[in-house]
Amino acid sequence: MTTRITHWIDGKPWSGKAERTSDVFNPATGQKTGEVDLASTAVMAEAVAVAKRAGKEWANASLTKRASVLFAFRELLNARKEDLAAIITAEHGKVLSDALGEVIRGQEVVEFACGIPHLLKGQYSESVSTGVDVYSMRQPLGVVGIISPFNFPAMVPMWFFPIAIGAGNAVIVKPSEKDPSAQNFIAQLWKEAGLPDGVFNVVHGDKESVDAMLEHPDIKSISFVGSTPIAKYIYETGTKNGKRVQALGGAKNHMLVLPDADLDLVADAAINAGFGSAGERCMAISVLVAVEPVADPTIAKIVDRMGKLTTGDGTRGCDMGPLVTAQHRDKVKSYIEAGVKEGANIVVDGRNVEPNSDGEGYFIGPTLFDEVQKEMSIYKEEIFGPVLSVVRVKSYAEGLKLINDHPYGNGTAIFTNDGGAARRFQNEVEVGMVGVNVPIPVPMAYFSFGGWKASLFGDTHAHGMEGVHFFTRGKVVTSRWLDPSHGGINLGFPTNG
Ligand code: NAD
Repeated sequence: MTTRITHWIDGKPWSGKAERTSDVFNPATGQKTGEVDLASTAVMAEAVAVAKRAGKEWANASLTKRASVLFAFRELLNARKEDLAAIITAEHGKVLSDALGEVIRGQEVVEFACGIPHLLKGQYSESVSTGVDVYSMRQPLGVVGIISPFNFPAMVPMWFFPIAIGAGNAVIVKPSEKDPSAQNFIAQLWKEAGLPDGVFNVVHGDKESVDAMLEHPDIKSISFVGSTPIAKYIYETGTKNGKRVQALGGAKNHMLVLPDADLDLVADAAINAGFGSAGERCMAISVLVAVEPVADPTIAKIVDRMGKLTTGDGTRGCDMGPLVTAQHRDKVKSYIEAGVKEGANIVVDGRNVEPNSDGEGYFIGPTLFDEVQKEMSIYKEEIFGPVLSVVRVKSYAEGLKLINDHPYGNGTAIFTNDGGAARRFQNEVEVGMVGVNVPIPVPMAYFSFGGWKASLFGDTHAHGMEGVHFFTRGKVVTSRWLDPSHGGINLGFPTNG
């Protein structure tokens, strides 16, 4: 039995018949579990029309009403987070504890958005001129689009929609077709929370529906997260069509280890950040830059820990689950083959892992390369799998240059006990999110998330105050209420006085 997964438009599942569908699998077993409808341009237009109508009313709902719906949604999400985590594991493959972690990090953004009355407060200056006051306000954009990747099917859309909805917009989410069900579950929670029908819509699809979003004049902004080539395409096409766009792209995150670092902390961090979620995280550590003479002892500690990791079905208490699809597993495998061919030293080879799972899941075990050089494809490109590369360097300066020369700039970390070195690194490194003895420095919801260079197109990061600004337009009002001292006609440019 497979499940049909369809769009959620106007507060209910779509009742039409899709022209095209895409198969959905359980990556731990390789079994097909569902078919997701892929929206045509016409279906996208139907959803946009619904959202536009619903959004107009929602924008006029009081701040108290909007905040109360957000609070109710937060409570429902918190109560059902285990159910949502199970849905994520069944389609993405990440282990249950990791899926739960993703929901909790998304929930933080909902909690931030519960403060929307405060976040939207404008400013007021009395008597800027005689009898004249000026005040500013922020108003919603209208219909906003969110296009998300497979690797965080719940959290990444939640980086955006709580703030967008709190600010009075209507939303269309286009999830990844690889793990579409999480957003349908979330749509039901919104309905139960009392959000009016049509304010939150889920339209499933692939390139056709994405292009329909990019072309539609009533979609005012696009928040995209995914690989860099698609992010660049989304940014260029969306902005050309007059939309506000934030497009977060791929990553290659380096961890710089100085000789004075605590090597047990380093090894734990490298394992957690390198192999958590099978390396399918945009903040995964994929390169460990060891400032000599620290490489050998660090590798020994990492190898020791790798020997204890278990790989298998995410519902069975293993440390690491499968990759998302058979194609993606093959791509990661081909990178490992390329690394061996290009001359890197494969210290631990995950290709022959024996997973704890039934069926033919898409597994690759944790893999470690040493002696990786910057010309190799495993160094240059994003692998997005459980493959950690060690690059040996002679100095802090050489390590810093390596990181700054890399085209990606999402996250990075330095491990050291030298506060001066850490302070210098945070100042000099050309990367958007920096950890000091913290390997996955994902900012809290009230800060903003985003990389530099090829990891972000557009100038606005996700959530925090940048999110509030992204989903609103500023307006400034200059107002005078006439009193008996009205000054008569004056054609000069208004100045204060
Ligand atoms: P992807 O780029 O393949 O897909 C992302 C979205 O774009 C999906 O919704 C997909 O349906 C759509 N899409 C795919 N091909 C398209 C095309 N040709 N035209 C228009 N739309 C298209 O990414 P993915 O494989 O789902 O996710 C993994 C990538 O996302 C990695 O590169 C990872 O680094 C990145 N990512 C980045 C961040 C970040 O914050 N920077 C966060 C999570 C994931």
